[in-house]
Amino acid sequence: CGIVGYIGHRDAYPIIIKGLQRLEYRGYDSAGIALHDNGLKVYKKAGKVSVLEDFVKDITLNSTMGMGHTRWATHGAPSDRNSHPHSSGDRKLTIIHNGIIENYAVIKETLLSKGHVFKSDTDTEVLIHFVEDIERETGLDLREAVRVALNTVIGAYAIVIMSADDPDLMIAARKGSPMVIGVGHGEYFIASDATPIVEYTKNVIYLNDNEIAYISRKDLLIKNIDNTVQTPYIQELDIKL
Ligand code: GLU
Repeated sequence: CGIVGYIGHRDAYPIIIKGLQRLEYRGYDSAGIALHDNGLKVYKKAGKVSVLEDFVKDITLNSTMGMGHTRWATHGAPSDRNSHPHSSGDRKLTIIHNGIIENYAVIKETLLSKGHVFKSDTDTEVLIHFVEDIERETGLDLREAVRVALNTVIGAYAIVIMSADDPDLMIAARKGSPMVIGVGHGEYFIASDATPIVEYTKNVIYLNDNEIAYISRKDLLIKNIDNTVQTPYIQELDIKL
């Protein structure tokens, strides 16, 4: 339902929580975050963003890269374990997702037969296990594995993926579900609509369907899922605060 991401030099947690609060108007049933802090730290709870805040209040959250999600359940009841982010079996990858993966059941069937163990009832968890499986089977790097996975997936999505192995990469992609990237100085903001971004930057890129953005602090590369490099179109937001 709602997506917020940040990669840069500032403390990511307050930016993400504030962003999730700005997206609360859309409605949701659970909230969660992932931060890169010597690997991935994931916290998620059914209920309001304030429940999540309370859950992490005694934890030191030191990170300049992370993402948050508010979920509107489509596959799997609202619960802590069905909340996003969802992680791969080896816990190295984590994903947040808006939308529906229509063909998740067939992909899940194949992955189950290969020994994958799932912790939730969501379509989303299947996608991140699928990416992990492609990485392992083909030896492709994460960027390529995500692209290959998205070529097999049917449905609508806006996703953000992070890897425990890479503290300077966020992968965002969309098809049929909006995704905006705010461009700052040595920092990028990611969100499912511009409301969490406007207070930081007015320069934004709206991802098009079938595009994948590979975002690091220094630069951003956008490719189509057919592997052609896209020229990002940076436009200026015309939203009053
Ligand atoms: N289909 C996913 C789920 O049920 C994502 C729902 C959403 O857009 O929040 O977990």
